[in-house]
Amino acid sequence: MSEKWTTADAVDLYGIDRWSSGYFGVSDAGEVLIHPQGKGSHTANLMDVVRGMQERGLDLPVLVRLSDILDERIKRLHESFSVAAGEYGYQGSYRGVYPIKVNQQQQVVEEICSFGAKYHHGLEAGSKGELIAAISFLKDPQAYLVCNGYKDEEFVDLGLYALKLGIQCVFVIEMPSEVPVIVERAKALGIRPILGVRVKLTSQAGGHWTKSGGERSVFGLTTMEIIKVVDELRDAGMLDCLKLLHYHLGSQIPNVRDIREALKEACQIYIGLVEEGAPMGVLDLGGGLAVDYDGSHTDFSGSRNYTTSEYFSAVVEEIMSALDETGIAHPDLITESGRALVAYHSVLLFNVLDVGRIERFSAPPQLPAEPHDLLLNLRETLDAVETRNVQECYHDALYYRDESHQLFKRGLISLRERALAGQMFWQILTRVAERLKTLDYVPDEFENLDAALADVYYCNFSLFQSLPDSWAIDQLFPIMPIHRLDEKPTRAGVISDITCDSDGKIERFIDLRDVKQTLPLHDPGDDDYILGVFLIGAYQETLGDLHNLLGDTNVVSVRLDGDGHVHYAREIEGDSVADVLSYVEYQPKEMVVSVREMAEKAVKEKRITAKERRAIMRAYEDGLRGYTYYEREN
Ligand SMILES: *Cc1c(COP(=O)(O)O)cnc(C)c1O
Repeated sequence: MSEKWTTADAVDLYGIDRWSSGYFGVSDAGEVLIHPQGKGSHTANLMDVVRGMQERGLDLPVLVRLSDILDERIKRLHESFSVAAGEYGYQGSYRGVYPIKVNQQQQVVEEICSFGAKYHHGLEAGSKGELIAAISFLKDPQAYLVCNGYKDEEFVDLGLYALKLGIQCVFVIEMPSEVPVIVERAKALGIRPILGVRVKLTSQAGGHWTKSGGERSVFGLTTMEIIKVVDELRDAGMLDCLKLLHYHLGSQIPNVRDIREALKEACQIYIGLVEEGAPMGVLDLGGGLAVDYDGSHTDFSGSRNYTTSEYFSAVVEEIMSALDETGIAHPDLITESGRALVAYHSVLLFNVLDVGRIERFSAPPQLPAEPHDLLLNLRETLDAVETRNVQECYHDALYYRDESHQLFKRGLISLRERALAGQMFWQILTRVAERLKTLDYVPDEFENLDAALADVYYCNFSLFQSLPDSWAIDQLFPIMPIHRLDEKPTRAGVISDITCDSDGKIERFIDLRDVKQTLPLHDPGDDDYILGVFLIGAYQETLGDLHNLLGDTNVVSVRLDGDGHVHYAREIEGDSVADVLSYVEYQPKEMVVSVREMAEKAVKEKRITAKERRAIMRAYEDGLRGYTYYEREN
């Protein structure tokens, strides 16, 4: 009976309990809450974060980093391993390393090193730049610094010096050609390296992101190459340095079965290396621990069919079943989980600037005195939607719409007549959609109708800058309003950013079963209507490009205390227009000079006054200094 909309309905509609892992919820007042310690823990209101930020003069769009959630992810990873190890009697320990490439921002790397110290959480570096960053942040002698990626002499020297400084820096050999360089530099500097080998497994995993793993991987050694590396190390008297086996199946592995299969193969290689006489002791499983972006808990590419605990149970179980019969000691485990560690802690917030909607005129438009046949036909179809076969009406409408374009091109109907035809066409489609709602079975051809009729919410952000994977690989992120959740959303929308690019649109949304083409949204009204895109902490921040010269957004890092107070730990102002222009080699100072000369010339020629010149220059210079996104008038 109860038809009244409650916040529980909003929780269900947006699937928040399914994808948020307990970190987000909804208050009785209909605003999104943050629960950094998981469901039911102390909390703060995301809207309060926005209000506090705006009071401090920081505008939307903003990327909010919730440092407490990052800490909780690290804790959850280590505790999940401990529970699994305890349950199965696993003897090795766990040392996670964070791959810097997943989110390279200094404050993220810093936070992981400082909070992660109690778990000896280390770092993974895939390039010289990342190694240089890692050396300055990793202070814990028990944490690992795993070096993947191509290593030249300079890279190797840096890593060896790091080892001398007391950092457990491991060189993972990815290519046979790295061996002579490492051997030569280690001998020259008189430092015994810690070495690992990266194997290219034949096991494959499903999902979008897995091209970097498996057989097609450009990195890693085949079994033939591994044997060759072992022989070379033995000849160089360095086989005793080989301690680690690494593989990386790819990122976002949705199916736990693929994780098990890869591990089975890796364990046999590990055993083989021990049999070859390498001391070993560490098994590094790479990344792949997935995030359940759509909350479906399935093996769909944007999801995962296992929890972190189940992941570690599977890992521990597979290793034990392979090794226990051989008598080889359980290795210490490394995982290079990046996505699962950082995805949850960042939320992108932006305001809706405008809504484009198809006019849903209740009454048909007034036709001219002597209407063209086309208009009469459309009018007749419009009147018949409720009574005639709905598919037939739909086909007629499409036909007349095409006809109107043809007639217009040949000059046979006027601009106004074409507009009337368009108006009636959309009215027919709206009515068709209404009628379809009453049918038990909806034919496939109407699949895209809802999306075609959806409102377009123009939002103050750039997809290319802030959500590159949404554009590049169609990744889905949970998106929802962060307030007004005590009101029933009455519209169905798609999202467009402000780049005016047809690719700058989001038209696919998470759904429990499939993918939704529209998102239920509120009528924005006159106040700010704010949407949040969640789980964007991994891979989104540094891939961004300066499409339409829209730059980095503002960033705030916040922490919550036990009383629900929000502390603004750090604010980073987004790019100004001048910043962005200088990235692409413009010279903002010279640009000001050039406009000033132009204005002065206009004064001389009496086209503007000196006072007007001042106003023009002020507007131009304010524009250069300003945020690249839409700013509200203060
Ligand atoms: C990208 C990458 C990772 C991170 O994988 P996630 O799935 O984000 O955990 C780990 N290891 C290597 C070698 C990588 O290239």
